[in-house]
Amino acid sequence: MKETIKMMLRTVLGFRTSIKWNKASMAACISVFVIMGAVTGCASTKGNDKATIAPVETKDTKVKDNTSKDTKVPVNGELKVHFIDVGQADSILVQQGSSAMLVDAGNNADNQTVKNYLDKQGISELKYFVGTHKDEDHIGSADYIINSFKVGKVYFPKQTATTKTFEDFVRAVKGKGLKLTVPSVEESFKLGDATVTVLAPNGSSYEDANDYSIVLKVVYGNTSFLLTGDAESISESEMVNKGLDLGSTVLKVGHHGSRSSTSQNFLNKVNPKYAVISVGTGNSYGHPTQDVMNRLKAKNIPVYRTDENGTVVATSDGNQVKFSTNPGSYKGIASNSSGNAKNSTSTKTQVVPAPVTPKTNVTTKPKTNVTTTPKSTAKPSTGNKSKVVYYTPKGKSYHYDKNCKTLSRSKTILQFTLGEAINSTHSDPCDVCTY
Ligand SMILES: [Zn+2]
Ligand SMILES: [Zn+2]
Repeated sequence: MKETIKMMLRTVLGFRTSIKWNKASMAACISVFVIMGAVTGCASTKGNDKATIAPVETKDTKVKDNTSKDTKVPVNGELKVHFIDVGQADSILVQQGSSAMLVDAGNNADNQTVKNYLDKQGISELKYFVGTHKDEDHIGSADYIINSFKVGKVYFPKQTATTKTFEDFVRAVKGKGLKLTVPSVEESFKLGDATVTVLAPNGSSYEDANDYSIVLKVVYGNTSFLLTGDAESISESEMVNKGLDLGSTVLKVGHHGSRSSTSQNFLNKVNPKYAVISVGTGNSYGHPTQDVMNRLKAKNIPVYRTDENGTVVATSDGNQVKFSTNPGSYKGIASNSSGNAKNSTSTKTQVVPAPVTPKTNVTTKPKTNVTTTPKSTAKPSTGNKSKVVYYTPKGKSYHYDKNCKTLSRSKTILQFTLGEAINSTHSDPCDVCTY
């Protein structure tokens, strides 16, 4: 059965540019996900799950990325980029003229926050919704937003998941008569007078879900914004090696300031004047890391952060970018400290037990506290009990990454939700892949 599904998927993928999703195929596809989730096998087979849902259409009109400083189109309005405070999550509203694009939509619990924010800006239509990747903190409220607004086009990487969050998202897209469009690198589209160019993902198979993140460069006059989703150092080095024009006025720091992103080489290439981090206060992931904050500080880059500044609005007139608040601090979480990250999990009723702990401390995570937290109180949410995690029948750990190297010797890899993991005999977060 696994083989059959794989073959079907290969077939679909092989012809993906010509296939249109109709109701039946989408429904069939959703069923396949559900089945895959149930049998666990397909979804955890490397290289296979990456591609499935898909989205089918790959092309927009190509516009050459003319972002080099002297070939800019003159502009006479404003570009506004709103980094909406959605706690430990991302949701970025980009507005130019009467056009709007939303990049990510926060956690499931953020649906009212994001909708109210868009309402307040007088938005009735999103020309584009971009889900950078499958994680709940990026597409959690995407279904709600897509159902609440007129949406022109939805971009999503060639990635799939068996989570309810993902299925809800796909259902909402389909319900609106839309489809998921996989953008190609260097493809550009217009948002008013701004030009949005896709810079990643450059590969088609990654071990880490975050590296599938769609990375966008929004250019407006002489200013630009690099929106990186949760892209990590692998994707970053692909962008660098490809020689893409990464230089940007503002960098949305990758993966909430995790140490696995914002590698020095990448940061040097982007060479931003300003940085923004979307991160939740007291989150249990240990974000942002002091490593990353130090890299930004060393380059004297002012950092605006949603945990300290709330929603951050950057306004460009085409030459200069101004911010709605003063910059935040360079205070991060030391990666070798068992302090902040862990304590925050045990004192605040947060859901995800993914403390950044040194190896020796792994077994001391605050298990009981987590299990008693009702999901509905997880706002501002820092995680998701329905997140799919992986385990082996005899292993004590659960893993965020089904390709985690510590799982590689196991023949049987099973999956269940984080909520189930916490209550099971597989309740230790893997210290390799769960930070
Ligand atoms: Zn994220
Ligand atoms: Zn992610």
